[in-house]
Amino acid sequence: MGNDFTKPPESLHGQMLFREMFYLLSRSVSNWDQDLDNQMCKKIDWGDYNDSALSAWEMGLTGFPYIDAMMRQLDATGWMHHLGRHAVSCFLTRGQLWQHWKYGRDVFQKKLLDSDWAVNNANWLWLSGVAPFSMPYFRLYNPCPDSKSSLNVETKTAAFIKFWIPELKEFPPKYILEPHLSSASIQQSSNCVIGKDYPFPMVNRKESAKENLMRFKDSLAA
Ligand SMILES: Cc1cc2nc3c(=O)[nH]c(=O)nc-3n(C[C@H](O)[C@H](O)[C@H](O)COP(=O)(O)OP(=O)(O)OC[C@H]3O[C@@H](n4cnc5c(N)ncnc54)[C@H](O)[C@@H]3O)c2cc1C
Repeated sequence: MGNDFTKPPESLHGQMLFREMFYLLSRSVSNWDQDLDNQMCKKIDWGDYNDSALSAWEMGLTGFPYIDAMMRQLDATGWMHHLGRHAVSCFLTRGQLWQHWKYGRDVFQKKLLDSDWAVNNANWLWLSGVAPFSMPYFRLYNPCPDSKSSLNVETKTAAFIKFWIPELKEFPPKYILEPHLSSASIQQSSNCVIGKDYPFPMVNRKESAKENLMRFKDSLAA
C-alpha cells in the first residue's frame, strides 16, 4: 500500500473526527440548538424573519442557479453534497440573505435523509460563522462559483444545474451561473427569459455580501 492517503482534517478519519467532536459538544454544551446561552454561538443581530426570502431559498427560486439547483435536489431527493450544503447555508446567513441559521437548520432537519440533530446544528453553527470552530466569518462563498472555486463546480457542461433547473437547459454553460448577465438574444435563443421564465437574482450578491460583512463585524463589536 502506498502512503499517499489524505491526512486529517481532509481525510475520511478527519471527517469522522469532526462528527465525533460534534456529538461530544452536542451533549456537553448547554442549548446546543439555540443562540441564547450557548457557549458555541456568538450573538449576531440577524435580520427579521423574511418569509418570502426563506421560501425562495427553500424552493430553489432565488435566481442563483447553483443555489437553486442544490435546494431543488434537496427537496426532491433528501440529499445534497457537503460542499453544496456549505454554499446554501452561507448564502442564507452571513453571505446574502442575513437570515438566522436556525431557519435553515430547520429546513435541513426536515428534508435531509441523513438529518442528525447534533451534526446538523453543529454545521449550521459552523457555516453561519458564529462558532469557535467556524471558518473566519469574512471568508464567503461566491453563490455564482466558477471552475476555480473551492466548491468544485463542474462548469464545462453545467449538466448538474441543467438537470435541476430545466428552465436553463438550453442556456450556454458560459452564462449559466449568472444568466441575467447574458444578452436578450441569448436568453431568447435559449428559451429562457430572465425575469419571466427564471427569476432575476433576489439580491445583488456583491452588495449584500458587503453589507452583511459590516453587520457581522458590528454585531461582534457590540
Ligand atoms: C449546513 C450543513 C448541515 C449538515 N447537516 C448534516 C446532518 O444533518 N447529518 C449529517 O450526517 N451530516 C450533515 N452535514 C455534514 C456532511 O455534509 C454530511 O455528513 C456529508 O455530506 C456526508 O457525505 P459523505 O458520507 O460522502 O461524507 P464524507 O466526506 O465521505 O465523510 C465521511 C463521514 O464523515 C462524517 N462527516 C463528514 N463531514 C462532516 C461534517 N461536516 N460534520 C459531521 N460529520 C461529518 C459523516 O458521517 C460522513 O458520512 C451537514 C453539513 C452542512 C454544511
